[in-house]
Amino acid sequence: MSQDTLRRTVLKIGGMHCAGCIVSIQNSVLRLGGVEKCEVNLASEKAYVEYDSVQADIKSIEDQIRKAGYTVVYQDATFVLSGIDDLVDLHGLEKEIGKTDGVRQVLVNYGNSHMSLQYNPALVSLADLRQKISDLHYKIVSEDLTASAEQVESCTLKRYFLVSLALTVPVLIYSYPEIFGFVPFSGNYLATYFVFACSTVVQFGPGGRFYLGAYRVAKMRSANMDTLVVTGTTAAYLFSAAHIFPTPDWHHLSFDASSAVITFILLGKYLENKTKARTSLTMQKLLEIQPQMATIRNGNREVEVPVDNICQGDMIVVRPGLRIPVDGIVIDGDSAVDQSAITGESTPARKKAGDIAIGGTVNIEGALVIRALRVGRQTLLSQICKMVEDAVSKKPPMQKIVDAVAGRFAFVVMAVSAVTFLLWLVASSQNVGLALIPAVAILVVACPCALGLATPTAIMVGIGRGAQHGVLFKKSQALESLDKIDVAVFDKTGTLTLSRPQVTGILSLDNTKESEIIAVAASAERYSEHPIAKAITKKSSEIGVVLHDASNFISSPGLGVAAKVADRDVLVGSMRLMEQNKVNVSNALDMISNMQEELKIVVAVSVNLQLVGLISLQEVPRPESGATIQALKEQGIKTVMLTGDNKISANSVASKLGVDIVIADVLPQDKAREIERLQKGGNRVAMIGDGINDAPALSQADVGIVLGSGTDIALEAGDVILVQDNLLGIVSALDLARKTMQKIRRNITYAFAYNIVLIPLAGLGMLYPALAGAAMAASSVSVTTNSLLLKRWKPKMQATNLHS
Ligand code: ADP
Ligand code: MG
Repeated sequence: MSQDTLRRTVLKIGGMHCAGCIVSIQNSVLRLGGVEKCEVNLASEKAYVEYDSVQADIKSIEDQIRKAGYTVVYQDATFVLSGIDDLVDLHGLEKEIGKTDGVRQVLVNYGNSHMSLQYNPALVSLADLRQKISDLHYKIVSEDLTASAEQVESCTLKRYFLVSLALTVPVLIYSYPEIFGFVPFSGNYLATYFVFACSTVVQFGPGGRFYLGAYRVAKMRSANMDTLVVTGTTAAYLFSAAHIFPTPDWHHLSFDASSAVITFILLGKYLENKTKARTSLTMQKLLEIQPQMATIRNGNREVEVPVDNICQGDMIVVRPGLRIPVDGIVIDGDSAVDQSAITGESTPARKKAGDIAIGGTVNIEGALVIRALRVGRQTLLSQICKMVEDAVSKKPPMQKIVDAVAGRFAFVVMAVSAVTFLLWLVASSQNVGLALIPAVAILVVACPCALGLATPTAIMVGIGRGAQHGVLFKKSQALESLDKIDVAVFDKTGTLTLSRPQVTGILSLDNTKESEIIAVAASAERYSEHPIAKAITKKSSEIGVVLHDASNFISSPGLGVAAKVADRDVLVGSMRLMEQNKVNVSNALDMISNMQEELKIVVAVSVNLQLVGLISLQEVPRPESGATIQALKEQGIKTVMLTGDNKISANSVASKLGVDIVIADVLPQDKAREIERLQKGGNRVAMIGDGINDAPALSQADVGIVLGSGTDIALEAGDVILVQDNLLGIVSALDLARKTMQKIRRNITYAFAYNIVLIPLAGLGMLYPALAGAAMAASSVSVTTNSLLLKRWKPKMQATNLHS
């Protein structure tokens, strides 16, 4: 399949109950020709699908999900618009909005200007729709948004549970006349009919949803929790019903077993639904920090507009105490801005003219005037949200194994239950009523629900929490890999050291004036993004030299630059660059090694292949580098410095910071090979870089960690992004990964252990079905609650704003 026809989509699914559902949906969708990948997440109830658009389309995928017995959830929204003047408007609007990915059934009513549509919340958000509408120049007057799918489900479950409970109480009371003898009609045969009536309603009323669920998976020749519940409770119900007529036989009635199980499982589902909704809340919170309205300065008028209407270049006024609406550059004003919502750093950052302000952060002190730079989906905040969503929707390998096991589990349980039934039948000399109890208890207690929730709930909370503290995981797999690393490899310039070295010395080797050396070098470096280049150009403007005309710029990553400067061939870079170009450096070697002392980088400048001068730059280690290296070492992680700089200056930085191993003189393209060598030696490697010319190494490593600069983030490279320009973020990322993986392992162990202990107990007849139902509900809820505890996670070493 070619890359251009590959499409990815996410669908929100309704009707999922447990891990068994995952497998049946996945199998059903994967059966469709052209579908490459389908991963279903139980916690977020979303399916992530990759397919070839030539062979398959969204509609056929949706059909396949429906065939498996589930629904694809679309949400309803109604916008009241202004600006619809005629029918042409109307048709145009319907057509344009209808074209949006994830929108179906757009209807615009000319009479009342209502636009109602159904949209797939996994593909488009309300914010996107608003944006689209305002892009088409219609104004939204008001919105009527129906409750989200989760809220609807939660309400239904609650209602079902309450009805079921109300009917189960009399069933329980009249089922035990020996305890509740004081209740009128207790022990009377009339009471039996009443019990029968109540439990029939429970069984097929609120309990009806389990039959529906079981039917769905049965059609797929699969089984899930619904199958188990239905088999168990139906057996108990039918057996009891058979002993009601003509005269009730008290000893053979276990209506309490069928009704109480249904009631407890409904309660469990309801609580699970509530807690599950809270796990995704962490991420929703991120999105909500963008304000709805903003003030735009238009000439000397100020107008309030919805944030979606802001265009690039608009002047925005942000008063103290308000959130900055979009990313922009400060034009006027001077204020402290609390960026903690985005970067997690607690100290406010100072913002004055020329600084970048990030949308979603809070202006604390003075008014700021900002020119909008990035709006809509381009803002850092929306990109972060999108990334986090993506990360959560892709499953880590561990989860795939668990899903596969859980999918087959139901069949094993049914077999175990059947065998138990037969054994009891023999042991109790054919007392069906007695044999039925342990068999039903096994079916109920063994449901693998908790197993299905163990991983995704923890990942959702973990990744969401990280995002709130400036640690972005791009794939959930990165949590798993980071947890296992034993070597951390750091790039030197810009990573262990601040990305702004300073020119401290200029040495002329012939009669060229020092200012001329810097002028020539700066002219050649003017387009290079390298920290060394920036330092040299900065120095030249400080001295105030005039730059020469230059052309034919060639940059050799890890070596330096070449250019034609005022008709002369100029090279600026390492000794290696000079040697490669056969520039004679022998007469300067002494001087170079003299200059290469503590934390100095020496760069050579040649004109027409003659060495004319040396420029020395002072590197400053980041203030937190030492502490970071130390913290990693304490966790048993070996630290390595990988640099294109020479051994002498590399070693001086390394020894100052306490780095274990130095690998120097490595060209950027060879850095990936060095990482591979470490991996071949049996190490799991994390690579930490600034994303400038170390992308191959970052992707070769088991985990690539990219250091952001606080305002601008290279979102493409790396698996983990530290939003804050602070190395200590690595320690936080590692800690969060470890805590999350620990939670997952504990959840899985707990879920398995629960089955391993309770199944035999149930088999021995020591666990009554109603209790089994309660235990099952408790296990899913406690696994989800355990994951929610991750919400309390905080970075241990609070990274303060050290560089501004
Ligand atoms: P690191 O691996 O520490 O990030 P690089 O691979 O970026 O370092 O660069 C290695 C060496 O190459 C530098 O120490 C410098 O000598 C030289 N060099 C690279 N780019 C430039 C440049 N633009 N100007 C001058 N020298 C450069
Ligand atoms: Mg570098």
